[in-house]
Amino acid sequence: MIPGPTIIRKCPDCSGLIEQGTIVSGNTFLAIFWTDGKMDALMMPDQPRFVKCPHCQALVWINELEEVGRVEPIIGDQVYENAKSYDLPDIQDYLLEPRRRDYDRKKEQYLRVRAWWAGNDKRRYEGERTQALSGDEIENMQALYDMLDPSDDNDRLMMAEIKRELGQFEEAEIHLKKPFASEFSKTVSAIGQLVQRQDPFVAEIQFED
Ligand SMILES: [Zn+2]
Repeated sequence: MIPGPTIIRKCPDCSGLIEQGTIVSGNTFLAIFWTDGKMDALMMPDQPRFVKCPHCQALVWINELEEVGRVEPIIGDQVYENAKSYDLPDIQDYLLEPRRRDYDRKKEQYLRVRAWWAGNDKRRYEGERTQALSGDEIENMQALYDMLDPSDDNDRLMMAEIKRELGQFEEAEIHLKKPFASEFSKTVSAIGQLVQRQDPFVAEIQFED
């Protein structure tokens, strides 16, 4: 991975400085892919757009904040002493945000996907793989489902996965039946196998290459 400059931005609420790491190039070598679309890749770190101010906990869209400077990776981080890396919102932050403000479809979809992933993180990382969905999670997944476009392969795959995680296996199967572009084939087959086993929980996709 080649890191890019760290962008220093200013929180509109508290004027605290927030560091935003960037990458020039990355790769998915040894990455872990999950059935809900999340990817964990050391060489391609997540670049979240909606984050929490580390100073005052305000929720902000980081790319919309005023940029006050850039620190090249080689110089290190001594230039802006009070700058801190952002915190990540939790599931409640993502869920409440679309109720607090009117968002366009793209942003609301982003928040709902992140809420979905944040809910699944306890099944992913905390050994609670078969924990049932909470009412909030179900409501969020249904709202996300309604926003998706079945004529788009990526969206349709997400719709199948949502139906599977909701335990609606027959509906998941209907979404999986129509052919997908070849780049989706491994994910389609992983989700299809879980549907066959009537397993509704998020899972790691095993690539056998
Ligand atoms: Zn702040």
